[in-house]
Amino acid sequence: MIYLDNAATTRVNNFVYLEAEPYFREEYGNPSSLHRMGIKAKDAIENARKRVADSINAKPEQIFFFSSATEANNTVLSGGFSSCSPYEHSSVFKRAKSSTPKLYSHMLVNNETGDIFDVKEICKIAHQKGIEFHTDATQAFGKMVIDVKDLDIDYLTFSGHKIHGMKGCAVLYIKNPEACRKIMMVGGNQEKGFHSGTENVPAIVAMGRACRIFDYKNLEEVVKAQMEDLNHICVEKFINSGIDFALNGISDKQVPSILNISFKDIDGETLQYMLSKRGVCVSTSSACSSGKKKSRVLEAMNVPDDYIYGAIRISFSYDDLKYRYGIYFNEVMDAIDIIIETVKTLSTLKE
Ligand code: PMP
Repeated sequence: MIYLDNAATTRVNNFVYLEAEPYFREEYGNPSSLHRMGIKAKDAIENARKRVADSINAKPEQIFFFSSATEANNTVLSGGFSSCSPYEHSSVFKRAKSSTPKLYSHMLVNNETGDIFDVKEICKIAHQKGIEFHTDATQAFGKMVIDVKDLDIDYLTFSGHKIHGMKGCAVLYIKNPEACRKIMMVGGNQEKGFHSGTENVPAIVAMGRACRIFDYKNLEEVVKAQMEDLNHICVEKFINSGIDFALNGISDKQVPSILNISFKDIDGETLQYMLSKRGVCVSTSSACSSGKKKSRVLEAMNVPDDYIYGAIRISFSYDDLKYRYGIYFNEVMDAIDIIIETVKTLSTLKE
């Protein structure tokens, strides 16, 4: 299989795996226990918290571990006092419906198209109106440098399994945790009461290590050199194939790890199914909203009907590019050839 669905989830990185592994079967203590096993687990969590904080220029005491970005988003936006952009992931979109919000949410990078939004500017406007600001950085983390101080945001979320960490762990950054008592969860008071319940230690350790995979100082250059190249070569291949396609997105800046492409008068779900049979994994729009034929986000971006149903999302792996560049590059090229061939077959069947 050639896996080109890294916006849906990623393979756990080797270093991440090795560091998390002892916490499954050897260091399995409960971090709340006061004996040696508990203390080891607690130390591992605090080490991960520091690594996460460093990666976004936050303080460790501003970082809280949750079980998923969905859970973290729901929690921040609960209470019926928030609104959001039309492009949000459903964990934000379905929660934020207030017409007189005290909190506004706008994602940093869109999960379907890879559009990058000027969140710093949007946050500034929200603050001028006396409204708090949350950003869902789930698709941004690892693709661009994120500095919470520079952005001046109040809340930020991202998820471990999108960055070559494990499923079952996400981060919620809170600028002023002391002033934020509205999202308490009753129970054992873990995560200072923001997320009661025994911690998922291996996944938290994995999250901390995953934050270290990315070389932050050179991140943008590395991504530029590798991802952009790959993205552009794929687009060129589509252009040279002569098939009728459109690239989807609303802004002029997109992360190169996501390519959302529509083929005219083609059914995206049929294409995805045929590609899967031929060994290529892509998604129609986003894995979380599969089963719905028309993407709400692409509709909000005004993608016309003869293209909207034929959209697929191709998303690349940072880890594969970093550790097996040449082989991965060739695999992606093969996959694009298969996509072009399959689109041509589907078009002929329609004639
Ligand atoms: N927000 C965005 C932008 C996402 O892409 C996703 C995952 N599809 C989520 C939130 C949800 O993340 P999780 O799987 O950790 O709940």
